[in-house]
Amino acid sequence: MKLFVFSIVLVVLFGFFISVEAQSTGKLKRVVIDAGHGGKDPGAHGQYSKEKDVVLAVALKLGNYIEKYLPDVEVIYTRKNDEFIPLMERAGIANKSKADLFISIHANYISNSRVRGTETFALGLHRSQENLEVAKKENSVILLEDDYTTTFEGFDPNLSESYIIFELYQNSYLDQSLEMASLVENQFEQRVGRYSRGVKQAGFLVLREIAMPGVLVELGFLSNSDEEKYLTSNEGQSLLASGLFRAFKDYKQNFDDKNKFNRPTQTAGIAKNTSPIKYRIQIASSRKKIKQGSSVYRKLDDIYEYQDGNLFKYTTGETKTFSEISKILPQIRKEFKDCFIIAFENDKRVPLSDAIAKTEE
Ligand SMILES: [Zn+2]
Repeated sequence: MKLFVFSIVLVVLFGFFISVEAQSTGKLKRVVIDAGHGGKDPGAHGQYSKEKDVVLAVALKLGNYIEKYLPDVEVIYTRKNDEFIPLMERAGIANKSKADLFISIHANYISNSRVRGTETFALGLHRSQENLEVAKKENSVILLEDDYTTTFEGFDPNLSESYIIFELYQNSYLDQSLEMASLVENQFEQRVGRYSRGVKQAGFLVLREIAMPGVLVELGFLSNSDEEKYLTSNEGQSLLASGLFRAFKDYKQNFDDKNKFNRPTQTAGIAKNTSPIKYRIQIASSRKKIKQGSSVYRKLDDIYEYQDGNLFKYTTGETKTFSEISKILPQIRKEFKDCFIIAFENDKRVPLSDAIAKTEE
């Protein structure tokens, strides 16, 4: 019974992977900038400011930089004014535009006024309870929407179980989302001079339905008076927007370069017999190289490292077919619950759908 359900999920996912691939050839052409909240949903409150106003200002500045300095990129906004846009509509705007990247901009609040810093979430997975709490807070906006139970198919933002589904949806984009997230936090920390709380992962509802890589950026805490001052100042907003812009520019550069090299794999005819495909299970991504002897290495003895952009990635297992690797996955998941299957052709990462088309009958 379980296997049956799993197969259905796979079929759904493959359709998904293939459509993803079809739209991601060539250069990065479109980006969606999503200023969180708006209208009747103010988001977090500071002493004198509202999240919806801070994030709109930064979103518009970011869009201006992209339009000015990267004129070949089309910028799509989910909102340019103080208006309420339902989450599903935000996802709809993004998907209809067939954008290559989704950037959702938010500001944070917590009862402890000493807490500060930026953090960027790669969409998809939740690593810890703390991340889940942030996800619940941001998602609770759906309760403001009329008839949310039908719109969201019974999704209850306060139930942890609701977030499990994100894993299935988002794995295919997680790598790219993580790459963007780490570029953003690097910029905030090293160039803008903010205190960075780092890259995190969580399942945000707004990002669930989006068929593209995406990040949710928390610019800082409105509950911290220093940060509120910075976040509401024109200078602070400009600096944060310029950090986001440089991260985006680097992401686009990597994206365009990668696609240039990936194109030959489209000519699959000859490759079919000569290029061996390997499946592996990805267990970790890291901005820094993970040392041998660290906890990841201690859990498994068969670990393969590869580099992708500015990230080091770690995999385990190696099989020639998808069905074989699928059998190993449940064991690995016991230690690394966010792990997922990836494919290589001639030791180069390829879309899973491409590999499966070649190895499975
Ligand atoms: Zn928010």
